[in-house]
Amino acid sequence: MAEVVLEDVTKTFNDGEVVAVENADLEVRDKEFLVLVGPSGCGKSTTLRMIAGLEDITEGIIEIGEDVVNDVPPKDRDIAMVFQNYALYPHMNVYDNMAFGLKLRKFPKDEIDRRVNEAADILGIPNLLDRKPKQLSGGQRQRVALGRAIVREPKVFLMDEPLSNLDAKLRVQMRAELSKLHDRLQTTVIYVTHDQTEAMTMGDRIVVLRDGKIQQVAPPMELYRKPVNMFVGGFIGSPAMNFTDASLAEKNGDIYVQADDEFEIKLAEELVEANPQVSDYVDKDVVFGIRPEDLNDAEITQDVDVATENTLDAEVEVVEPMGSEINLYINTGSREFIATVDADSKADVGDTVTMAVTQENMHIFDKETEESVF
Ligand code: ATP
Repeated sequence: MAEVVLEDVTKTFNDGEVVAVENADLEVRDKEFLVLVGPSGCGKSTTLRMIAGLEDITEGIIEIGEDVVNDVPPKDRDIAMVFQNYALYPHMNVYDNMAFGLKLRKFPKDEIDRRVNEAADILGIPNLLDRKPKQLSGGQRQRVALGRAIVREPKVFLMDEPLSNLDAKLRVQMRAELSKLHDRLQTTVIYVTHDQTEAMTMGDRIVVLRDGKIQQVAPPMELYRKPVNMFVGGFIGSPAMNFTDASLAEKNGDIYVQADDEFEIKLAEELVEANPQVSDYVDKDVVFGIRPEDLNDAEITQDVDVATENTLDAEVEVVEPMGSEINLYINTGSREFIATVDADSKADVGDTVTMAVTQENMHIFDKETEESVF
């Protein structure tokens, strides 16, 4: 079993002045592909480096496969780490780069040979074994770095932004390859990235970090649909979720989201029934959140119930064709939104459009705590 458990782990630098990771509790499951994601400086790399043993833990416990590893040196943790700069030895060929760790550990020659050739096959690089790193493309170097980790047959792979030095197209390709590799190797992977698309596409579960604190741990679609707060809502998804200040009002037993006199949306009965806590926010200031893809051009939309109380009118300021869809930058008066609409939309700059809101995907946040009401 290769679970990794963090119990109340804190890491400070400079005598406590910098809190890089604060009271982190996390259980990484055996064979799971877990992604740590968040903006620069949120503590992703520090978390990974503590698991690797490259950084001491200020407080807390880390377990790998049920053993407490706080005082176990990196080489004895049965982990392999892949870095963004690959860290290949320039004077060694690919074979020797991959074999190096095993030679250090005094593995027999035929076992080294078996493992290196097998890893090279898995990664599709058996023809590159004689080359030096400088004779390889970025993607090939990346594979060698992975190969060096694979030959170790570790309990856990730790990867720190391994795709960030590749161009956009190769990154997309390697993303899928890494997912396939994980399926094949059936090993626990902890993967650090600042790229929410990478996190969404690769993670079985995703950990969103902010300022050293874990915000939410959930599978990709749960993070997307049920963010616990505005930070997670805004970080996951592209273009980002629209937020605007609003208030809730009750009229004749119904609850309305009101944005001054710019728009008003009646909450469907089922929505209120499913989220009774919303009634605590009547007559209070809230933040209304809606993803661009949940604002639909009412003229062409068919799959959304376009009741008049479920729409907002806005002026189109920018039209951004994306091919299969169009991003409309719209304004309801003083409030700006992005709407990702069907490519059939005829909306043009200067038009007033009626946007239908997908009610079940609406979000209301507490204005003070920024936590999700629903
Ligand atoms: P990035 O995506 O930019 O790599 P990150 O999320 O990986 O960021 P960390 O590198 O873990 O963030 O850093 C978390 C915080 O700890 C930052 O404020 C950083 O400046 C601080 N930090 C990291 N290492 C050290 C160190 N050796 N000494 C002092 N502060 C450090």
